[in-house]
Amino acid sequence: MKNCSPTLTSKAKCPLCAGTAISVVKATLLQNIVFPLNMTVEEQQYFYCGDIDCDIGYFSEAGSTVKKKNLRSCNQIRAAWLCHCFGISAAAYKTALATNGAEAIKSFVIEQTRQGACACELRNPSGRCCLADFKRLERQYESN
Ligand SMILES: [Zn+2]
Repeated sequence: MKNCSPTLTSKAKCPLCAGTAISVVKATLLQNIVFPLNMTVEEQQYFYCGDIDCDIGYFSEAGSTVKKKNLRSCNQIRAAWLCHCFGISAAAYKTALATNGAEAIKSFVIEQTRQGACACELRNPSGRCCLADFKRLERQYESN
C-alpha cells in the first residue's frame, strides 16, 4: 500500500492566525504556488496553514510568506475541499452523509489511495492525505 503521508512532520504557529501549521515538502510548494512566485521559493522549511479563512497559505522558518490567493487551489481551499485528488468538497460529503452516500465515497477514496492513484503530496496544498479530514467531518456531523 502506498503511504501518502510524509514520514517527517513538524509543526509551527501561523504568524497571522496563530493556528497550527504543518511542514510541507518542496514539491508540494512548487506545484501549489502560482507561477512565477513558485520560482522564488527559498531553501527553507515551509509550513502550510490550513485555516480556510486565514490569508496565509505557506510561511517559512525565515519569515517568508505566500498568501492563499497565490495558491493554485485557492478557490478550492476557500470552498473547503476535502479531497484535492478527486475534487470532493466538504459540502458534497456532508450531503452524502445526510443521504447515506458517504460510505461509497469514502470507500472509493480509500481504494484509490490503496492502489496508489491519489496524489495528495502534490495536489493537496497541505501535502497530506485527506482521509483524516473525512473522519473529522464525520465526527462534526455526528455531534450535530
Ligand atoms: Zn493562518
